[in-house]
Amino acid sequence: MDANATQEASGARASPLEADDSPARASSALALDAPTSARVHDLLKRHFGYDSLRPLQSQAIAAGLANRDTLVVLPTGGGKSLCYQLPPLVAGRLDVVVSPLIALMKDQVDGLIACGYPAAAIHSGMTDDERAAVRVGLSEGKYRLLFVSPERLASDAFVAFLRRTGVSNFAIDEAHCISQWGHDFRPEYRQMARLRDAFPRASIHAFTATATPRVRADIAAQLSLRDPIELVGNFDRPNLTYRIVPRLDPVAQTIEALRRHAGEAAIVYCLSRRETESMAEALRKAGMHAACYHAGLDADTRHRTQDAFAEERLDVVVATVAFGMGIDRGDVRCVVHATMPKSIEHYQQETGRAGRDGLEAECVLLHSPADALRWERLMRRSHDESIAVPDDDDPEGGAAGGNAESLDAQLALLRQMQRLCVSVGCRHRALVEYFGQDWPSSKGPCGACDACLGEIELLVDSTLAARQVLSAVARVGQRFGVTHLADVLHGGASDLVRTCGHDQLSVYGLMRDRPVAVIKNLIHQLVNQGLLASTGGDRPVITLTDASLPVLKGHCDVTLLRPRVRSKATRSAVADASWTGVDKGLFERLRELRRTLAQAMGKPPYVVFNDATLRDIARVRPSTLERFATIRGVGQRKRADYGETFLEEVREHCRLHGLACDITSGWEHEA
Ligand code: ADP
Ligand code: ZN
Repeated sequence: MDANATQEASGARASPLEADDSPARASSALALDAPTSARVHDLLKRHFGYDSLRPLQSQAIAAGLANRDTLVVLPTGGGKSLCYQLPPLVAGRLDVVVSPLIALMKDQVDGLIACGYPAAAIHSGMTDDERAAVRVGLSEGKYRLLFVSPERLASDAFVAFLRRTGVSNFAIDEAHCISQWGHDFRPEYRQMARLRDAFPRASIHAFTATATPRVRADIAAQLSLRDPIELVGNFDRPNLTYRIVPRLDPVAQTIEALRRHAGEAAIVYCLSRRETESMAEALRKAGMHAACYHAGLDADTRHRTQDAFAEERLDVVVATVAFGMGIDRGDVRCVVHATMPKSIEHYQQETGRAGRDGLEAECVLLHSPADALRWERLMRRSHDESIAVPDDDDPEGGAAGGNAESLDAQLALLRQMQRLCVSVGCRHRALVEYFGQDWPSSKGPCGACDACLGEIELLVDSTLAARQVLSAVARVGQRFGVTHLADVLHGGASDLVRTCGHDQLSVYGLMRDRPVAVIKNLIHQLVNQGLLASTGGDRPVITLTDASLPVLKGHCDVTLLRPRVRSKATRSAVADASWTGVDKGLFERLRELRRTLAQAMGKPPYVVFNDATLRDIARVRPSTLERFATIRGVGQRKRADYGETFLEEVREHCRLHGLACDITSGWEHEA
């Protein structure tokens, strides 16, 4: 995952380092000495069942042990948690983790306890007795990690208490929440600016997946990080397959994508509350297990949906951007955007929720050039009104608010997103380069995006189609919008067509053989390319531009994407590889077992094992506890707690299907 790493020390950015050799080249603060390294690996195996650290994790752990302030930037699924979980375990000390949501804290603590890791949380969702019990445990030195909310750290009494426990290391999870330039600004995070004063000698370790330099700088400033070591991972997510396709029929296209992931977890993002509701309804009609989620629903309904999803009782959540940070489900196999997000940062953040367990996942973005116009209208409107209160039809998190600078900045980000949608190059490369990292030319096609898989289709007669549309715009006197133009070109019989006499024009019915939705899409593409203009406003009119004439005269060619409902989606090599040797029947059986065990404990299933571990079990099919313990993700505690139960399931399945056990492919040892 972090094949490349850049290390930034003392504010001076070092040249990109190959992560594989980075420990050797990094400053001594980032290298683990041999005995410490052995101890780290022992604890890594014992508690988490892993054999090796990812390169950046090892540097972050070294910095954590050296009490050096750090800012660790790793993509979602990059493995930030181990970076703050291992140092206190190795040093035998208590560290504090600040986490933004109670739900997240609970999941993290549950997950750690299941690994035999002594962790606890103190939050407002606990009874006084529960909190008192944790305080007693703390004074007895029982825990290695304590999870708290930022609000709690603002309390003088709590700070005084923590001081008495001798805490001197703080990890700030989701640290971008402190920055208003981020996508998840939480004002309560600002209270942590006091941390430095309250604990002058403590080291502070900030963790985020947010890639923008402005947010990073803001985090360092707000937390008063002292000469922080900045560890930045590679933003590429090789396990994600990106598809960015023109939208013609959002429901049909979403269903098609989700059918490739039947029975698996998926998130569908829509812009407005109403759209999430109608999409969820349509998916249910198509036989899918789907529910909608948006900020307009009451808290109870939202919690029920979120819990059902976390507990694997619900496959598909159709949501506005309000759905996100609280979900810790690592096995999301598909994220569909039914509308284009307003920036690549948002796209990265939302697609980041797919495949957090490192296994293959698919991200499908359905876009219409009309999306950008819609965003622009919303941004301008909320800018004019200088308020950020979405009403029921409004996209959530879509309001711009603020001053002219922020409107310009938002429009610039929107243009970048739009450009990504109409580009035909490798998506992985485009994303990595957008975030300022290199894509080595030696890398070749990524094998995991629609461009590299050869799925992007161009309209064969693009130039002719463009000329037909441009002529129609000229013929109707540059006085009409997209719908009417499409009607005229398609040869429709609307009232407007007849009253204007546009059925008498030479361009009438020129595109009779193309569906109206396709024609509209082509018009929008031409606007996007500047070959047509849209006046904007509530009833935008399409006009010609300076660039139109050369096309009309046949002096230049045009390239347009071919919009179609059925995609050519093929399976990516990543997906094939992660299923190699896995007995799917056994995998499904183990998933069911995991769900049953988790339900009995009242915990989410991933607390038992994640999908990567289940696939390894279904690949190796261990028959003994010793073999079971060699599987990635099986530590001592889980071996003791679940070993026999899982072995029994494996034996039974192998007996039933005449399958061999204890396969030695060596696969499970690969990082
Ligand atoms: P993040 O917080 O950066 O989104 P997590 O810490 O949740 O990522 O880790 C993502 C997944 O990767 C988890 O399933 C975790 O168990 C797994 N993981 C992390 N580090 C390693 C490692 N060194 N070896 C194998 N799996 C790892
Ligand atoms: Zn590619």
